[in-house]
Amino acid sequence: MENKKSRALFDSAVEYIPGGVNSPVRACGSVGGDPLFIEKADGSKIYDADGNGYIDYVGSWGPMILGHRHPAVIDALKDVLESGTSFGAPTSLETDLAKMVTETVPSVEMIRMVNSGTEATMSALRLARGYTGRDVIIKFDGCYHGHADTLLVAAGSGVATLNIPGSPGVPASVVENTLSVQFNDIDAVTAIMEKMGNKVAAVIVEPIAGNMGMIPPVPGFHETLRELCTTHGALLIFDEVMTGFRVARGSAQEIFGITPDLTCFGKIIGGGLPVGAYGGKKEIMSHIAPLGPVYQAGTLSGNPLAMAAGIATLKALQVPGYYEALDQKTEKLVTGLNNAAADAGIDFCAGHMGSMGGFFFTKGPIHNFDEAKASDLDRFSAFYKGMRDKGVYLAPSQFEAFFVSSAHTDEEIEFTVSAAADIMKGLA
Ligand code: PMP
Repeated sequence: MENKKSRALFDSAVEYIPGGVNSPVRACGSVGGDPLFIEKADGSKIYDADGNGYIDYVGSWGPMILGHRHPAVIDALKDVLESGTSFGAPTSLETDLAKMVTETVPSVEMIRMVNSGTEATMSALRLARGYTGRDVIIKFDGCYHGHADTLLVAAGSGVATLNIPGSPGVPASVVENTLSVQFNDIDAVTAIMEKMGNKVAAVIVEPIAGNMGMIPPVPGFHETLRELCTTHGALLIFDEVMTGFRVARGSAQEIFGITPDLTCFGKIIGGGLPVGAYGGKKEIMSHIAPLGPVYQAGTLSGNPLAMAAGIATLKALQVPGYYEALDQKTEKLVTGLNNAAADAGIDFCAGHMGSMGGFFFTKGPIHNFDEAKASDLDRFSAFYKGMRDKGVYLAPSQFEAFFVSSAHTDEEIEFTVSAAADIMKGLA
């Protein structure tokens, strides 16, 4: 595909923006290519500056579950736009969205809106520390919870893509209370909690890991985390920024039947506008200012445009059978990819939970970050480039998930599978 205009735009961007991008993975560095500059998107497709169309499995990294420019979202945005874009004062839209989330995710009795997933997890941790009066946080290798200082330890997503252990600029003293253990390692987390559970403020986890590729929890993992937290008086925080309203209407916690103390959201609840949120038990949430002493605030928090896009999106998700249809479509894609790899005779494993999926160029199943890192990254890069050339847009990193939207058609799934089959033959 011709990418001249994207290349020229990138050349210009790198003069003014570090790496030419406002979020590292977008630079496509790890796959050895240039980023596409996007001009527009519609439904399941995105279009670059050169006029090429692609079937989009990035979905703005998760929010676009309805596809791009869903009419209900666009109409809601137009309505609000006529009244103003930001007031810095309460609007009824904030209550409407808060109510919708609490009604759909019962563990969330109260919720506070912020502007990104990073803010959500950062604030949830502050609340957990303020509430428990403890400092230690336990997280899992390869899980990414945004770029707040305390959480940049053995993180996934761009941190994993760029293969950096943490980040310069984060003082050792800031992360000395962050412990990171392997995802799915029940024994390791049990051992830490038995040794120092009375110092642990919270265990924070992506209930389905999506930032080291997609890795589901092993049976019993979340049950054990829940039990350990309850026993030792620590809070269990589910970071559902990616999985929230993605893998099930009631989010991942509904699938696993687990009640976390706090939940973080982002992505889908903002319908493609900048939003994050954290919520949980009323008793815990009451410690946030102005009700309590734990401070957290935001100039644009609860922004009316973002609230309206979120409300319109969550409403559209209420259609009966919505998640089942999405699940079947994703299953078809994943089965097709696995079959194509088997036919080509290459080591590969794809999986999904609902419409969130992932694949590795190694034999599965994959349980943790170390196993994920065994994926053949050269094959991933070749696959990424080959698919892009055929009009399929995937995340430009092995350590990311893919997303199917309700706008993707069966024909597009079939096209994707046949494109993958072609590329994989060349990888053998
Ligand atoms: N938590 C999870 C699970 C995420 O996937 C992400 C972003 N991909 C974040 C937190 C951070 O969200 P944001 O990029 O909106 O700050």
